[in-house]
Amino acid sequence: MKIQEADAKSLLKAQGLPVPGWELARTPDQVREAAEKLFRQGTHRVVVKAQVLVGGRGKAGGVKIANSPQEAFEVGRRILGMDIKGITVRKVLVAEAVDIVKEYYLGAIVDRASQRIVLMASAEGGVEIEEVARTNPGAIHRVEANPELGLLAFQARSLGLAIGLRDSLLNQFVAIAQGLYATMKANDADLVEVNPLGIVDVAGPDGNASPRLLCLDAKITLDDSALSRHPGLEGMRDLDEEDPTDAEARKLGINFIHLDGTIGCMVNGAGLAMTTMDLVKHYGGSPANFLDVGGGARHDVVCGAMELILADPNVKAILVNIFGGITRGDEVAEGIIEASRSQDRTVPMVVRIVGTNAEEAARLLREAKMETASSLDEAAQKAVALSKGIAQ
Ligand code: GDP
Ligand code: MN
Repeated sequence: MKIQEADAKSLLKAQGLPVPGWELARTPDQVREAAEKLFRQGTHRVVVKAQVLVGGRGKAGGVKIANSPQEAFEVGRRILGMDIKGITVRKVLVAEAVDIVKEYYLGAIVDRASQRIVLMASAEGGVEIEEVARTNPGAIHRVEANPELGLLAFQARSLGLAIGLRDSLLNQFVAIAQGLYATMKANDADLVEVNPLGIVDVAGPDGNASPRLLCLDAKITLDDSALSRHPGLEGMRDLDEEDPTDAEARKLGINFIHLDGTIGCMVNGAGLAMTTMDLVKHYGGSPANFLDVGGGARHDVVCGAMELILADPNVKAILVNIFGGITRGDEVAEGIIEASRSQDRTVPMVVRIVGTNAEEAARLLREAKMETASSLDEAAQKAVALSKGIAQ
């Protein structure tokens, strides 16, 4: 689950990381109010940032600086409602705009190859790290944290030295890198990214400016499978940006991934679902989705899953492949029959149900005059033909 910058920043702050304060706003008036508040606290400029779950907002015009509350209002009016990579901006973050001396990149990811949390840093910050990886991979430095001991200070220091930090900035960097690691662990995150991590001149009490590192942007992806361990994080799911299909699938408790083919697949078991998709491809078709209705799928779940498949206008045929173990074939058959009766458009369907109560299922399907297949190969071939409008 991706979370918005503002939520990501609050998770960083909870681990003691230096993040400039911010306010959220949903209307230009709220942007002005937020800016007024910051100006009262002594800020001279604010930055208004689109809150959308995509990178490169800066380049897309979704990050703008304003020198007065009135200017913030105008900037807010321009950014709110803007379309960034297909997403409508519904809220913005308003924060003190700091004078950035230099921008760095710092990120932590779960690296499945090394089975470690890997910290990555680069002096080429600000731009998207994928671009740096492509054009100048040598500019990205990495260290692997130890699964028992965590990210040790010397490791963080070697990373800081590699990107050219020294003295006080190096010490600050060590604390931030370790804080990033702590954020990963505390929230079961897959990715925590700060880009830019900026050097900013901050005036001290003596009036002399001293350089400080601040987390100016934050991106966090949480491990969906670990969300149940963090009930507080569920509230960070941004329903504004969630695909309605994904929300529906989550409610039904099924695994549904939308793809761009024409054959809707309803299968129980992730492995069987993949095999089904492979066979569809093998026989020259293309799957419209991955769907695992799970073991013991009850008929209301089957009905809901069918509606999700049919909601995709590209679907030209449906392939149902159920291996009844815990799942009872007759119950799935009933669900399919009910779902196909209630649909508003008729899409040809091939059903293959084997295993528990297969005979009962076959009888129900026969009575409902549904197309069946006894083997998976046969089912896949039929579905491909139907998807191409070839009558059986
Ligand atoms: P992204 O483009 O989606 O990654 O959004 P960022 O939050 O990284 O903002 C893009 C760029 O805006 C940064 O790389 C900075 O150059 C600039 N920016 C962001 N916050 C501030 C700020 O407080 N002060 C200044 N001067 N620039 C900022
Ligand atoms: Mn950024």
